[in-house]
Amino acid sequence: MAITPVTPLELFDTESLPTDEEREIASTVRRFVDERLRPDIAGWFESATLAQEIAVEAGSLGLLGMHLQGYDCAGTSAVAYGLACMELEAGDSGLRSLVSVQGSLSMYSIYRWGSEEQKQHWLPRLASGRAIGCFGLTEPDFGSNPAGMRTTAKRDGSDWILNGTKMWITNGSIADVATIWAQTDEGIRGFLVPTGTPGFTANTIHRKLSLRVSVTSELVLDNVRLPGSALLPEARGLSGPLSCLNEARFGIAFGALGAARDCLEQTIAYVREREVFDRPLAAYQLTQQKLADMTLELGKGMLLALHLGRKKDAGTLTHQQVSLGKLNNVREALAIARECRTLLGASGITLEYSPMRHAINLETVLTYEGTSEMHTLVIGEQLTGIAAFRG
Ligand code: FAD
Repeated sequence: MAITPVTPLELFDTESLPTDEEREIASTVRRFVDERLRPDIAGWFESATLAQEIAVEAGSLGLLGMHLQGYDCAGTSAVAYGLACMELEAGDSGLRSLVSVQGSLSMYSIYRWGSEEQKQHWLPRLASGRAIGCFGLTEPDFGSNPAGMRTTAKRDGSDWILNGTKMWITNGSIADVATIWAQTDEGIRGFLVPTGTPGFTANTIHRKLSLRVSVTSELVLDNVRLPGSALLPEARGLSGPLSCLNEARFGIAFGALGAARDCLEQTIAYVREREVFDRPLAAYQLTQQKLADMTLELGKGMLLALHLGRKKDAGTLTHQQVSLGKLNNVREALAIARECRTLLGASGITLEYSPMRHAINLETVLTYEGTSEMHTLVIGEQLTGIAAFRG
């Protein structure tokens, strides 16, 4: 007797693990992605654009800074935030990046380290999508090792003067405010730089093959003069920016699985229809083995993400555990996207199907927010007690 097929995550029954409210939020985001992104994503990816109004629409849905409390933020659980990232990334990693950078890097930096005045001024605007934020940590010569940054902030009376260059900054050219990390006499400090400030320039980076619907920019700070009130008062040292990265990495541990789920679901539909040697491609054992292996990795990744989410909600999640999730789930999502592409044959190299687009996006996701190698070293240090970052 033929059985009715189920989706990979239905087989794991991970849907039963979130609360009703978390599931409801995930369905709302899935509808948003289906209606607003899916019909146009291939074209936007090809032309490297994303409709500007998408940020405002994401804001009206309450997705920007959704896991923060107060200041017009939705105040959801961490699991709900993770599931939202997953649904967004099932559409495209570029859309999830816009939302992650806005909520977890820009808004979180203000929420966690800002003054009450900075919070009141920026958070409601950023939550609504009427203002866009970016987060400038990486420099041309310092990515994995941000402690070496050369951007400086020097006091001039009660003002600060910033000089330096930040590189690979998501949302840079469309941002209204940039959180900029700089060396000072007191170590690394953070500053909120309105992007209209004289001496601040954002140059869009073109010819990207990955994350094409997301804007990536170089930020140049040439004697940018800021009032003392631009300093994030509570952040001192590298723990300031790293705490923000930890928030974004948590979302990525869920997000990457959205891309993987989308690849796998599209591929299963394809192999059931595609006939090779007079039978559906799905009827071959090699195909079923690929599907079974990918389903196992997707499901295991989902269980890991939900476990991390519950720990985050309980306040017991460590940054090393976030490394476990980011490393595993992005690496496996990329492997799934590539394997799905093989099952689609030649059709898989076009934008008609999502796996190759997801795969090339996931190449960025593997690198940003801590490369896979950096997260491996974080885990290695925990296991051996020896930090192997320096040769
Ligand atoms: P490098 O640090 O030069 O690393 C190159 C290779 O060397 C990697 O494989 C790395 O793992 C390896 N490596 C480095 N050190 C070691 C070591 N000790 N041991 C072994 N291997 C090592 N940054 C921001 O601040 N804000 C953003 O919004 C932002 N958005 C981005 C968007 C995109 C599309 C991209 C591609 C990047 C973005 N980044 C952003 C930058 C990103 O975080 C960095 O690219 C990343 O940290 C890696 O730095 P790098 O590119 O300089 O590579």
